[in-house]
Amino acid sequence: MTRRKLVVGNWKMNGLKRDLGEVRAIGAAAAAHPGVDVALCPPFTLIADAVAASPGLVIGAQDCHAADSGPHTGNISAPMLVEAGARTVIVGHSERRADQFETSQDAWAKAAAAHRHGLHVIVCCGETEAEHDAGRAERVVQAQIEKSVPDEAAPDWFTLAYEPRWAIGTGRTPSIEAINAMHAIARAKLKQLVGGEAARGIRILYGGSVTGANAGDIFAASDVDGGLIGGASLTAAKFVPIIEAAAALG
Ligand code: PEP
Repeated sequence: MTRRKLVVGNWKMNGLKRDLGEVRAIGAAAAAHPGVDVALCPPFTLIADAVAASPGLVIGAQDCHAADSGPHTGNISAPMLVEAGARTVIVGHSERRADQFETSQDAWAKAAAAHRHGLHVIVCCGETEAEHDAGRAERVVQAQIEKSVPDEAAPDWFTLAYEPRWAIGTGRTPSIEAINAMHAIARAKLKQLVGGEAARGIRILYGGSVTGANAGDIFAASDVDGGLIGGASLTAAKFVPIIEAAAALG
């Protein structure tokens, strides 16, 4: 099964209205490369403005609550995201796991809620540096996938992102071989959970210090279907070369 490359920008807690020019430029680059799927996840406050600034670009969110509404001060629900114009949502990001103590079960519930409301879902997994150094990365990632991926996950609405926490924002990346090996392990785990056909079609993104300089090599690995990009998605100048690297691979 052919998996189209997918490149997703995660602006984290960055972005004000003055940055909408970057959204427009990223949207123009995405339109110029129709062979690649591109999405951008700005903070909640910019979602509607980003949709208006670049109507053809898939705009997403960085989290959603598992409930549709209720007494959850400060949270945002999936229907709210849909109303704002989001089409995709990242759940279970390691920064939320670390800062908001989110678990894989939380990610599962958020993914299910987002799917109920028609959003594409990107579930994140990845080991810490201590887990990596202790040789536990494989088991940690497998357990995260087992607990956070809904049974009905399918390629048309679900994407997995493997992001070793020690590579996020550090400028360090695993070797291409190590990335591809972990993606193969993740795909084998998906197969157990959702069946062979769905697992073959679900895209697995790599995240962690991807730049225009390394994206081509990373995305060329057989089990890598694109990237989840933090710092290098904040400006078109840095993000567009990553989109181009994905486009060059077809
Ligand atoms: C991320 O936070 O998802 C990420 C991959 O960040 P960075 O690209 O900055 O390492």
